[in-house]
Amino acid sequence: MSDETRLIHAGKLKGDLARTVGPPIQKGSTVLLPNAEALYDDANYLTYGRAGLSAQAALQEALATLEGAVGVSLYPSGIAAISGPLLACLKAGDELMVVDNCYKPVRRFCDSVLQRFGVTVTYFDPHMPPEALVGGASEAVRMILMESPGSLSFEMQDAPRIAELARARGILTACDNTWAAGLLFRPLDHGVDLSIQALTKYVGGHSDVFMGSCAARDPTLVRRLADGVHHMGWAVSGEDAYDMLRGLRTLPLRMARQGQAGLEIAEWLRGQDEVAALFHPALPSCPDHELWQRDYKGACGLFGFALRPAPQAAVNAFLDALKVFGLGFSWGGFESLAIWCDPQLKVRKFAKDYGGPLIRLHIGLEDPADLIADLRAGLDAYAQLTT
Ligand SMILES: *Cc1c(COP(=O)(O)O)cnc(C)c1O
Repeated sequence: MSDETRLIHAGKLKGDLARTVGPPIQKGSTVLLPNAEALYDDANYLTYGRAGLSAQAALQEALATLEGAVGVSLYPSGIAAISGPLLACLKAGDELMVVDNCYKPVRRFCDSVLQRFGVTVTYFDPHMPPEALVGGASEAVRMILMESPGSLSFEMQDAPRIAELARARGILTACDNTWAAGLLFRPLDHGVDLSIQALTKYVGGHSDVFMGSCAARDPTLVRRLADGVHHMGWAVSGEDAYDMLRGLRTLPLRMARQGQAGLEIAEWLRGQDEVAALFHPALPSCPDHELWQRDYKGACGLFGFALRPAPQAAVNAFLDALKVFGLGFSWGGFESLAIWCDPQLKVRKFAKDYGGPLIRLHIGLEDPADLIADLRAGLDAYAQLTT
């Protein structure tokens, strides 16, 4: 054969790979099939790389274990792990009920894309009692989407009760469970149909890779989700799946440490004069603590607090004085972050008074004492502009 031909076929995999601790990262669009019959035998052969190869399959299996799921679909981002299941499960004429404290891009997707395709979207108060919520749902309601605790203001819903009532009416339930990362709360164990997470946050754990997952137990739903991914043509890379799997190995350790540090820092904040209110469901005296206590195994490092009302310049001075905390969106990584939330609350239908400007903290793996010193410096800068 000529050099051209030999170069095309040189260096191919022969035989089995050596076994490493992590899965092999396969890169491939084409999958080579053993014979002519296998080319069209989708039931028994993986015939195209877009469906995911070794690392993606390993991640799906590990996430199914974490979530207690029968199947898990992967999406190229957390937001796609919400839009994807909604597109897969809803049709024109259906109504979707979404909790009002949802992640803001979810609302954008619902109001622009879903509504354009004939799905009615209504928003409900996160503290609406389950009986009123499900009892008041119209005949057209096909799904209820929760986010608990909400990632800015931390209201919780009684997901098990909502799921139970919704099931009796033939309504699907889905929960954005990013705060608990599938570890502190397992929605599927509590009757919720779809457990969604932005793996970008705690599972990834290093603020450097995007992905989302949706887990289900009912085989019909598992199939529907997988078909939805297939129809949309979404794929995640083997490298990214590998990174997620690596994050998953240390998830319990990081969550325990960050959750503990978060509680310590929240307790400290509670004693500071400049702080009007705390929003951390794992703290007794905070809203929804009973729900957290009943259903959750622990806390992550994400919580909120309100500063006493003050001019915006004081809020900015607080944030600008922080040196250990970074100012940035996202969370779940190893580093501590802070943001001011109020601009994001403007789109909500049920406006709430949190007692002052709402700050969200994500506690990373730094020493809590250093984080407390940093917050104290921030509060000093804030206090200077309020007196
Ligand atoms: C970040 C986030 C998402 C979206 O994840 P991306 O990977 O950034 O698209 C969804 N839900 C919640 C609660 C989030 O915090």
